[in-house]
Amino acid sequence: MGPAYTTAYRYFVDDPDTPSIEKTVFDRHFVGMASTFPARESGYVTDSAAGATALATGVKSYNGAISVDSDKRPLTSVLTFAKAKNKKIGVVVTSQVNHATPATYLTHNEDRNNYNQIADSYVDDGWKTDVLLGGGLKYFHREDRNLIEEFKKDNGHFINHYQQLSDLPDNKPVLGLFANIGLPWAIDDKQANRLKTMTKAAISALSNTEGGFFLLIEASQIDWGGHKNDIATAMAEMHDLAKTLEYLEVFVAENPDTLVVLTADHSTGGLSLGANGKYEWEPKVLRQMTMSPQAIAQKITEQKLNQQTLNTMLNFELTDEEYALLYEIEAADLVNAITINIRQIIDGRTNTGWSTSAHNAVDVQVFALGNSKNIFSGSQDNTDIAKKLFKLLK
Ligand SMILES: [Zn+2]
Repeated sequence: MGPAYTTAYRYFVDDPDTPSIEKTVFDRHFVGMASTFPARESGYVTDSAAGATALATGVKSYNGAISVDSDKRPLTSVLTFAKAKNKKIGVVVTSQVNHATPATYLTHNEDRNNYNQIADSYVDDGWKTDVLLGGGLKYFHREDRNLIEEFKKDNGHFINHYQQLSDLPDNKPVLGLFANIGLPWAIDDKQANRLKTMTKAAISALSNTEGGFFLLIEASQIDWGGHKNDIATAMAEMHDLAKTLEYLEVFVAENPDTLVVLTADHSTGGLSLGANGKYEWEPKVLRQMTMSPQAIAQKITEQKLNQQTLNTMLNFELTDEEYALLYEIEAADLVNAITINIRQIIDGRTNTGWSTSAHNAVDVQVFALGNSKNIFSGSQDNTDIAKKLFKLLK
């Protein structure tokens, strides 16, 4: 979530019928910037593992590293350090819970792609989290091992439906896995604002304690929208994050000893607002969308929809050429090919530009609210964020 994303979000939620452009929750809590480069051997563009390792441990490592240094020695994360300081700890993500970011805060591995090993380590190294919520069922319930049964045998409380979040115990560890891999896109998920919903539930289970708590929250799929060059789903993910931050704003007002720090591990996609040689970025069609391009493409392959039905689904009128782009194509993976075409039609309508399907090296913003927020002001490195958190925890 580099600066282009929070800027896009401001215009995405702007009310065009008022003379002013309203400030967002991100505008209200901006305090500084952070550089994101990984360890020397990986150049200037970080991946999520090195980025999260820097944010979690205060040490730069190579791309792919899960809380190990360049020599593959394990590093301590702020989250496990908080645990050692008798705080309750939690992790809430919209990716699988053994994905790069949550993994760096909880375990160590020389390669982020060792998904099964990472999931195993959560159980084998002793269960650490009081609350762990996100996706990843397929890594926990495998042919060779059922980590869910092992967790339950060890007095763990397992859930797999969002409705069960309303009733979490605060005296035993909770594992909530709501999808096989990542959660559905926010725009398609039947649970509105799923990140906010999970965050609220986690905080109510964690905050009932004398010693305090440390919760890691990741709006994981803003990055995934960026990788797919999909502005519609990226904006919906941003909206879920904004609603989460607005909830935390209220929590901090009621609990002023709480600190919230928000940043990104990197930006993705080289998003630009204004493309095609025009001084114009027009998010109107994005505001009207109620399904991801991927979900629309899925429907198109299931049944023949006339132009009218498709216009209703997209909430804008397709030209005849655009309609042909969705129906008169042949490809091995038809859903994927149609999804890409829908995204490109939307990019054309909005003048959204992308320069890569990967990450880029721009600095990212830092937002902070509550107790000690000022120490995150100004220009800093991503490792400084962890160093400042360690200092506060000491
Ligand atoms: Zn990424």
